[in-house]
Amino acid sequence: MNQKIPAIDPITPGQQQQVIERTSDLLQQCQNHFGRAFKPIDLRFDLRGRSSGMYVLKHKQRYLRFNPFIFAKYFDDNLATTVPHEVAHYVSDILFGIKNIRPHGKEWQAIMHTLGVEPKVTGNYNLSGIPLKQQRRFAYACGCMTHQLTTTRHNKIITGKARYYCRKCDRQLSQKKSTQRIAVAP
Ligand SMILES: [Zn+2]
Ligand SMILES: [Zn+2]
Repeated sequence: MNQKIPAIDPITPGQQQQVIERTSDLLQQCQNHFGRAFKPIDLRFDLRGRSSGMYVLKHKQRYLRFNPFIFAKYFDDNLATTVPHEVAHYVSDILFGIKNIRPHGKEWQAIMHTLGVEPKVTGNYNLSGIPLKQQRRFAYACGCMTHQLTTTRHNKIITGKARYYCRKCDRQLSQKKSTQRIAVAP
């Protein structure tokens, strides 16, 4: 494959260390401001796609995910803005409970101000060279061609929530046998 845009390498272990230190520094600032301790939070550098960072609360586990490619391309900006953005999600969850507040509501914004960062939501990065999330596709046949359906559509079909028809031949789409082994139950 001929790629015109050079691929970006993920951040180095040294840069990961800087993110770890920045995170604990921000948590220390929150501790000083709110007068209570916040447990260190796990960081994972495994986020892919168009987001720079994400706060995750799953099965009572809390962690931050960062995109090592976007961080590599815009390291200083992500260190300055994305890291506090996600730390503020974590701290607002601990203080108020994630279900009781809007993600970027006044509680989150106040924590961002505490951290000395403008509470902006979207980074405006040029993502060329950033590997995109792999989208799984499922092959379906009608009477005239193969259709590559997204996981969302595929799941609607196998759970009986939707049927899809070919616009050209009007036949209902059915999954091709050759791809059935990668079908996943919802
Ligand atoms: Zn956010
Ligand atoms: Zn067709």
